[in-house]
Amino acid sequence: MVRRLRALPLFLVALIVLGQAALVLASSAPAADPAHASPTQLGPTVVVVVLDGCPVGSLDLLPDEAFLGAARRGCDCLSTVVRTVFPSSTAAGHAAIFTGSYPEENGVTGKEYLLADGSPGRFSSPRVLERPTLFEAARAAGYGTAMMSAKKNVRLMLSGAADVSAGADEVPDWILSAAGPPPDESEQYADFAGWHVELDLWVLGTVRAYLESSCAPALIGVNLGSPDKCGHRYGPAPAEETAAAITAMSQGLEALAATLEATRAGNWCLIVTADHGMTQVDKGITVLDIIDEVAESTGSEITATLDGGVLYVWAEGEAQDELAKALAGTEGVAEVIGPDGPGGAKDQARRAELRIRHPRTAPLIAVVQSGHMFIESPLFMDYTHGSHGTADLDSDVLVPLIICGPQARNGKAQQLLSAAQSVTDIYGIVMDLLNSPSN
Ligand SMILES: [Zn+2]
Repeated sequence: MVRRLRALPLFLVALIVLGQAALVLASSAPAADPAHASPTQLGPTVVVVVLDGCPVGSLDLLPDEAFLGAARRGCDCLSTVVRTVFPSSTAAGHAAIFTGSYPEENGVTGKEYLLADGSPGRFSSPRVLERPTLFEAARAAGYGTAMMSAKKNVRLMLSGAADVSAGADEVPDWILSAAGPPPDESEQYADFAGWHVELDLWVLGTVRAYLESSCAPALIGVNLGSPDKCGHRYGPAPAEETAAAITAMSQGLEALAATLEATRAGNWCLIVTADHGMTQVDKGITVLDIIDEVAESTGSEITATLDGGVLYVWAEGEAQDELAKALAGTEGVAEVIGPDGPGGAKDQARRAELRIRHPRTAPLIAVVQSGHMFIESPLFMDYTHGSHGTADLDSDVLVPLIICGPQARNGKAQQLLSAAQSVTDIYGIVMDLLNSPSN
């Protein structure tokens, strides 16, 4: 067997990365610098909510009575559609939103990258980010900062400059007593959709606890995972469980808006977006078989990361050539992108267009056609009906950008929102709001 066994290295990598993240978190005490502007000179509290895996089309299915349905239609809110980055997946999308930059600039190139020892590692530490985050900018301006997340790796990656960082696995005691305990992990498979909705509502409860603890202006990042979890399992809305999760998120955000108004009347902004969308799939491409064949026939070691609509492969020489050919001839594969080198002008141009020219990006990338996904085993298709990751499918890449609240039209926000094309434009909008004192 020449393909890498992934379980053990990943486990070790997780230990190492978590250790590093803990060090970073421990050393990042709140910066209470009296030299910074007093709260009255700061702008509004801004909450940036990422609905994980929620394509804009899913919000459009909500009725007018729903908070997010009305918001999408521009009632009392500003609303537009933006594109996420490639690959359209969780780590890359969050890094793009919170650093305002593309994978080639911020270094978050997908689900995994090769560590120095050649094993794949996850993007789960602030150290992977090569651009400053909104949290750093907000903290430097004197804002409180907080990151609350249903997904652990997202929280770990983005909490480098967060005064408060909360998730089910790690929550400060004072938030725990105010918001109560997160749902019991041992119960998550009894009612899969309901459990993930409950977790998200608990995450929103931690945000409310933070807002109620202090009226000082803050920048808060939030990740809500149930649209993604349900989208993968049941398919995107209108699949019943996924639509119900999104409706529950709409209600939860309506309650959050009420808390914002109760704690800082007239002086807040709620931004709602998504890291990527979700596409209905019914055909799995069992790509490990193909990789094993090439690894055996060429006698080489190949490392691969499967991420739904996209496949990253680290292979060299003959193995790379053989695998590129095999993948290009595989049913359901839309595109194979070769290495970034002088030999392949077309591949180089495609990488430049997708803005993924970074040493962490794999030399070989394959992208699926609609309805397909890369999968370890055909068995997984029995309980997988949604996927994402591609560069071009609208359902994967088109996400909502909504700004609600009494300060939504503060500064140049409206102008910036109408010009916004990409999730990377959110950074500039938030910075403008934070730099626009309301009185
Ligand atoms: Zn996902």
